[in-house]
Amino acid sequence: MTSDNGVQVSVLGLGAMGGALAAALVKAGHATTVWNRSPGKAGDLVALGARDAATAGDAVRASRVIIACLLDHASVHEVLDPLAADLAGRTLVNVTTTTPAQSRELAAWAAGAGIVYLDGGIMAVPDMIGRPGASILYSGSADAFAAHRPLLDLWADSTYFGADPGLASLYDLALLAGMYVMFAGFMHGAAMVAPAGVTAREFAAMATPWLTAMTGAFHEFAEVIDGGDYTVAGQQSLEFSSLGDLLAASSDQGVSTEVVAMVQRLIQRQIDAGHGAEGFARIIESIRRPA
Ligand code: NDP
Repeated sequence: MTSDNGVQVSVLGLGAMGGALAAALVKAGHATTVWNRSPGKAGDLVALGARDAATAGDAVRASRVIIACLLDHASVHEVLDPLAADLAGRTLVNVTTTTPAQSRELAAWAAGAGIVYLDGGIMAVPDMIGRPGASILYSGSADAFAAHRPLLDLWADSTYFGADPGLASLYDLALLAGMYVMFAGFMHGAAMVAPAGVTAREFAAMATPWLTAMTGAFHEFAEVIDGGDYTVAGQQSLEFSSLGDLLAASSDQGVSTEVVAMVQRLIQRQIDAGHGAEGFARIIESIRRPA
């Protein structure tokens, strides 16, 4: 069998993301059972051919593969704990966002109940599901990943990171950390230019090509970090990177200095430790060793 379109699958949670995942499965021809805590969310999916289960237990018992896409770790336990016996022998794919520790805890709970567990971290918004650019990270059961890869690939590019069930979440949250700090940097710049009459839309048109070009520096920083030598020639030094002008200009514009000051603190700790002539990538040492 080259396709697992015959796999019966149940989706627990029909929020924005769970609904998108379920729709992709139904459209691909999987016999799909759906369940949501609050009624009334399955209408469109039923119209596509999904079966709406009255209870989470009914949904679990309907399929060999169970997808959990609920709000958070606590809600996953709230729904699944009473169903451990029903889940035994089935495969649970949990794509609810959790911390690595929570993913490992749920995997241990699943192992104790005889449930095959695969953890997932979704790097996409619901509209991206089933489209190019969507990515989902997995860790946990290698057998489950291999067996259900055709199903998982319906949603996004699937990447498996290993048996440690916390790894997908670790990568997921690390990537989100980078995203949120970048977003805060964009908001800071937009706030700085706003008193000069520049709209956020105008600033976005300038920031997008600038920041896109700057991501090219990731690779160079990575080479230095992995090499462990921040004195390699050609790097912008920490002293040269002082953000004093950015802080002053932000204050002059009447906006918060919090975002820039955070980066300045990371720089200053390395300068204070005597590394001012070394490369900017060295601020990772401030992050690795909390103050
Ligand atoms: P929504 O807020 O749209 O939906 C949340 C879902 O969880 C609903 O089905 C809700 O049911 C259910 N739920 C919440 N609490 C409980 C509970 N105690 N018991 C049972 N069901 C509960 O969230 P999303 O669908 O957007 O997100 C779902 C997961 O996917 C989250 O972990 C999120 O971090 C992750 N994710 C979402 C992305 C996105 O862009 N939306 C991107 C990447 C990951 P009810 O309708 O009854 O409230």
